[in-house]
Amino acid sequence: MYYPRDYEYLPLPGESKQQGMIKYELKCDSGHVFEAWFQDSSTYDRQRGRKQVHCPVCNSHKISKAPMAPRLARSSEARAADEAKQAQAARQALLQLREHVERNADYVGSEFPEEARKMHYGDAEHRNIYGEASPEEAKELSDEGIEVTSIPWIPRGDA
Ligand SMILES: [Zn+2]
Repeated sequence: MYYPRDYEYLPLPGESKQQGMIKYELKCDSGHVFEAWFQDSSTYDRQRGRKQVHCPVCNSHKISKAPMAPRLARSSEARAADEAKQAQAARQALLQLREHVERNADYVGSEFPEEARKMHYGDAEHRNIYGEASPEEAKELSDEGIEVTSIPWIPRGDA
């Protein structure tokens, strides 16, 4: 289960209207391992090529896929069924995350960076908020010591 921190940072609702998503274990050139979600493997390749994938720890763009745990050879049918099950479970988890955030935080839209700053500097009362911020805005916030989290935002009800 997921519990929001003080501030939430979510992508634009239109930004991630994909049906299924895949998760990659990624590694930067400093050896930080992290997970990231992509629509499919070509999206990963494209975003990596455009340096849109970066390490959350050191911001490096030199990213590669972390070696996967060895797997037993299995029939492609069994593997496909497994993957479908995993995708379904991942989707379910993201839906629960979305509902949790919607229930427990106030949507502030594009005012997010400003609202997060106001709370950080004591100009507004602390509360859980979520909204939209560009990667640059999110980085500026983190440079100021304001912790935000990016959440894959998936559409509801078309499972
Ligand atoms: Zn790193």
